[in-house]
Amino acid sequence: MGAIEAGGTKFVVGVGRGPGAGLLARAQFPTGDDPAALLTQVIAWLVEAQRTHGRLAAIGVASFGPVDLDPRSATYGSITTTPKPGWRGTDIIGPLRGAFPGRPIGFDTDVNGAALGEGRWGAAVGLDDFIYVTVGTGIGGGGVARGRLLHGLVHPEMGHIPMPVLDGDRFAGSCAIHGRCWEGLCAGPAIAARTGRPADALAADDPAWDLTARYMAQAFATLTYVLSPRRIIFGGSVRKGGRLGEAAFLDKTRAALLEVLNGYIASPALTKDGVRDFIVAPTLGDDAGVCGAIALAHDALRSGEPHRP
Ligand code: ZN
Repeated sequence: MGAIEAGGTKFVVGVGRGPGAGLLARAQFPTGDDPAALLTQVIAWLVEAQRTHGRLAAIGVASFGPVDLDPRSATYGSITTTPKPGWRGTDIIGPLRGAFPGRPIGFDTDVNGAALGEGRWGAAVGLDDFIYVTVGTGIGGGGVARGRLLHGLVHPEMGHIPMPVLDGDRFAGSCAIHGRCWEGLCAGPAIAARTGRPADALAADDPAWDLTARYMAQAFATLTYVLSPRRIIFGGSVRKGGRLGEAAFLDKTRAALLEVLNGYIASPALTKDGVRDFIVAPTLGDDAGVCGAIALAHDALRSGEPHRP
């Protein structure tokens, strides 16, 4: 399988069948502002990789977005309205089809890819209903319901759900579109704008951690009420909790979630003990994105192109 994790800051390209030893080769390229040049590099790498690892049976692309996932659309497989310089309207799948004719190509959002990868090999193995959320420079979420990736009108944009503002919080939020949406309150740049320093540099007892955990809990409660996931995988750099540490920040977020839900959902998963398995960190680590792309390639091969989850 060929895999492309198309990120906003870097593209990770890989060849393999899965995580760990299953990932036979990988390389990364800065995303930059010249998509044509980058895609040429990426394709050249994959073509070269075939010499060592054999013909690629299929290719998966897990891309930053927004992307067009409607197979009937003329712009299927493109990045659509991104503010990223140079990338608006970039056709990702077209050049790949040209370079690898006849090969199935799976294409989805980066977070849907990561969800698929965690479902197959990581923190959600055996579950048919779960959500993967990444909180880093932005917030994105991918979801699997009854074993299928969530798509619809376009694709979920969980990071931009509106948020109730907590008492006394005067921070205006950092989302350019919405101000105080989830991303505008909890992503890395929001924490930095709120506190004047990056999350990594905050003291373990900085009140911003409590506030961020409470906002995370509001969003997780919304997702829990709407989608009824069996687990929420909490990825991205913010979950590492800076000097507070990942374990403590996740515990804070879990406790805050139980507080927001206030006992309303009757499930062992949403008790003091159960919640440790309800909100979890991803297990594929730095390979989550590229493994997600490999999972998309597997599915494209199995179901025929285009990928229909
Ligand atoms: Zn927003």
